[in-house]
Amino acid sequence: MSQLQSFDPASGALVWEGEIADAEAVNAALARAHAAFPAWAALPVAARVEAAQRFKAVLESRKDAIAEVISRETGKPLWETRTELASMIGKVGISIASQAERAGEKRQDMPFGAAVLRHRPHGVMAVLGPFNFPGHLPNGHIVPALLAGNTVVFKPSEMTPATGQAMADAWAEAGLPDGVFQIVHGARATGEALVAAHIDGLLFTGSAGAGAHFRRIFADRPDVILALELGGNNPLVVWDGDLDEAASVVVQSSFITTGQRCSCARRLIVPDTDFGTALVDAVAALADRVTIGEWHETPEPWFGPLISVQAAEAAKARFAELVERGATVIRAFEGVQGRSGAFVTPGILDVTGVDVPDEEIFAPIVQVTRVPDFDAAMAAANATRFGLSAGLVSGDDALWDRFVLESRAGVVNRNRPTTGAAGSMPFGGLGDSGNHRPSAYYAADYCAYPVASFEAETVAGNSGALTGKLSG
Ligand code: NAD
Repeated sequence: MSQLQSFDPASGALVWEGEIADAEAVNAALARAHAAFPAWAALPVAARVEAAQRFKAVLESRKDAIAEVISRETGKPLWETRTELASMIGKVGISIASQAERAGEKRQDMPFGAAVLRHRPHGVMAVLGPFNFPGHLPNGHIVPALLAGNTVVFKPSEMTPATGQAMADAWAEAGLPDGVFQIVHGARATGEALVAAHIDGLLFTGSAGAGAHFRRIFADRPDVILALELGGNNPLVVWDGDLDEAASVVVQSSFITTGQRCSCARRLIVPDTDFGTALVDAVAALADRVTIGEWHETPEPWFGPLISVQAAEAAKARFAELVERGATVIRAFEGVQGRSGAFVTPGILDVTGVDVPDEEIFAPIVQVTRVPDFDAAMAAANATRFGLSAGLVSGDDALWDRFVLESRAGVVNRNRPTTGAAGSMPFGGLGDSGNHRPSAYYAADYCAYPVASFEAETVAGNSGALTGKLSG
């Protein structure tokens, strides 16, 4: 078998090395998962809840070490990866509550006996994870999938195998039966082997391009549940308010995690007025002050590098293409002197009147559009094939009422960053951002299917319905 390696994007240091799972290894893992499924699914939910609680305890005991692994592999500062660990730990309680509320059992008395609603697991779930929240996002599929009674084969991003392995080690220590949770490492070829094989569900968080590919290849496999959590080209409309506070919402929305959050604001829409100009100036001035550095530096930087030098080069090419199309540079998107090629500065472009592609650029770049009135702002906000997050900064209740009603997005925030989200709420997008199977609190919905039963203790009483309606 060949080897997979991951590297610290800030220093280039090797972080992890291990075997790539080829198609044979993937199929062997799936065979073990299928074999383990019936007994795992037959356990009372309380037994699976106990296993999840043990996993939570292991995460708690290793939270600093795992946060460090994520920082090394992604370059994200420790303050952020500690938050990621807190979300992973919190996910267990949230998933237990959501499973009980959305996928539990309900009984209703009927004249003949009872109507009973139960939920059943699908079987073997393949989970494919992204690199940007390599712990929290796959964990958001894995915990609810296991609680519901599915077995799981997880392939982490090829950029973050050490994080995936740390999660697998934590589940192993929690003590699951053989085959209930397994990890396979590798890049696209390993993912392709997984989705081509006998699976009952694919729980995917990643790019819209890969999501579109999965929609196509699963079109003729309706028996496979497909949950797609994809990217966005998210709008943030800033209409009025305190300039410094509004600029802070923009900088957090567009540049947090070096722009590598699916919910980052990619498009800033402002009125073509003095307020709009002053706001853009305030955003640029604040962007100049964000601290950039390696995850272990003191004081801690606000953001680290992009995931790789290649990702930085690709984003720079996209920025240059926008400039070539006619965009005006407000702040250049460029490398950071004295740092590795994965480091970049926040880029700001004015694209008013420029024909720009409706694409997600997964980097700290925001495109400003100036509009004459709120009708135009609303139209610009919705002018996308995606629909993940959207935001409005305004103190005007009437504008907010309109914005929340007319926005085509799964997360619509007011006077808060577009990246504001919580595990206690659903998280998912419309259009090319997903397939109407939101995750976070609603993950329980795609991890089990509902079964309705009409039940009587004896067969007596059925013939009455035919009395007087029979011949002979
Ligand atoms: P990606 O699509 O490149 O990869 C995600 C995973 O899928 C990886 O494990 C990869 O190996 C695998 N994969 C990719 N193409 C595949 C194929 N054709 N067949 C089988 N496996 C394949 O995504 P990424 O670059 O790791 O993550 C960033 C993307 O994820 C961004 O677009 C971001 O917006 C999106 N994202 C979405 C959410 C959400 O909840 N909606 C959250 C985080 C990230």
